[in-house]
Amino acid sequence: MTHSDTDTLRAIQHTERERFIASHPRSMALARDAQQHYLFGVPLHWMRDWPSPATLFVAQAQGATLTCADGVGYADFCLGDTGAMFGHSPPALAHAIGEQAARGLTCMLPATNAAVVGGLLSKTFGLPMWQMALSASDANRFVLRWARAITARPQLLVFDGCYHGAVDDTLVDMDPLTGGTLPRASVLGQVHNHAAFTRVVPFNDLPALETALKQGDVACLLAEPALTNFGLVPPDTGFWEQARALCREHGALFVCDETHTVSTALGGYARAHRLDPDFMVVGKAVAGGLPCAVYGFTHDMAERMVQAKNAAPEGHSGIGTTLAGNALTLAVLQASLEHLHTAANYAKMLDLASVLEQGLRDRIAASGRPWTVTRLGARMELQFMSHTPRNAQDVRDHAQSELEAFTHLFMLNRGVLLTPFHSMMLVSPATTLNDVAQLLAVFDELLAALRALPARPATAPASRSA
Ligand code: PMP
Repeated sequence: MTHSDTDTLRAIQHTERERFIASHPRSMALARDAQQHYLFGVPLHWMRDWPSPATLFVAQAQGATLTCADGVGYADFCLGDTGAMFGHSPPALAHAIGEQAARGLTCMLPATNAAVVGGLLSKTFGLPMWQMALSASDANRFVLRWARAITARPQLLVFDGCYHGAVDDTLVDMDPLTGGTLPRASVLGQVHNHAAFTRVVPFNDLPALETALKQGDVACLLAEPALTNFGLVPPDTGFWEQARALCREHGALFVCDETHTVSTALGGYARAHRLDPDFMVVGKAVAGGLPCAVYGFTHDMAERMVQAKNAAPEGHSGIGTTLAGNALTLAVLQASLEHLHTAANYAKMLDLASVLEQGLRDRIAASGRPWTVTRLGARMELQFMSHTPRNAQDVRDHAQSELEAFTHLFMLNRGVLLTPFHSMMLVSPATTLNDVAQLLAVFDELLAALRALPARPATAPASRSA
């Protein structure tokens, strides 16, 4: 954008900030109160990553509707950044929570439904063996430990632009000049040199993947089937078939992080596209948003994991946390797998997501803006570039952080929530045609408001990944 475009955008963004302040007096007051007791005024500092002048405080979230402290209702397309992908507080989960709360929350012993839940996990995601964690970050960390333990190999392989949670080994970037590993500059308090043990290659780059694997020292490739945290970047046709074959050829395990791509289809992307992973991680929505993550693996992996554990001295394995697999989580996970992870729910989500995608595409085409929409099942992203990106560098090259922030606040001020990281929209089974129509109407307004800005490609640098 030119300086005058940026000035225009800042001026209209200022108006949006004023509008938020005027229409959210209660949130503004709560933000001031919370400032006294919370770092950055919020229980988790990411909650300030929304583009509003103050944090939006939530009074209630039900289905696909969120109501803020000021009584304003929002069509929620953020859905807790996937945690509430099946809608907020689904009745089956609320019921299971109530029932189990009266029977014990956590015992360091399996509840009687453990075997049933294991069976449901296998049926839903296709892998036979399972372990539990409290978050996808934890699950990924634990799987990396298992992978290194059973292969006796030190190296990890990830894609540039990846995000797998607060997992130190993976919080790295690719040096665009050398292809080497760089510490991610934004990470706080990092003293370990992960460049020594993590390799990073561009997504969709088979030759780079092969070079990284060829040295024969990679324990596993940890990857999302599509990048979802650095812009939505889908795999090239045939990419995974070959990438999977390369992992096998070079003795590296394939760990598929389905935490976000579970939005693709019932059972996740890997199942729908037969990626045949050695390990799979699912968090966030697996138990409908209650803190829970699971990791599944093949019988072959299970055998090797048992051998590694039995061969190790007695003591801490570095894998697991006290509350993982607790009774409350197991009860809710069971309800979630029985009532939320269903073919009927996915059919609803995917149908409505395609309506939304088409609506956005039609409007973009009519406006002449060089933008696109990339969709993966129930998840889609509005991208301020004319083509679907192929890798993280492509996203960096086209990022327009000010336009993105404006879009988010503009929509929020008109009752539509997008995910604060990127312009991501998720459709839940509770989302209605009315919600979609509302988003599209606001998108029309957005395009009208941006008419003062010429439709030209971006040049500003990327600001962040989620
Ligand atoms: N894996 C992926 C693909 C994610 O997107 C995220 C979070 N955005 C995580 C893991 C970590 O999830 P959590 O923050 O719930 O640990």
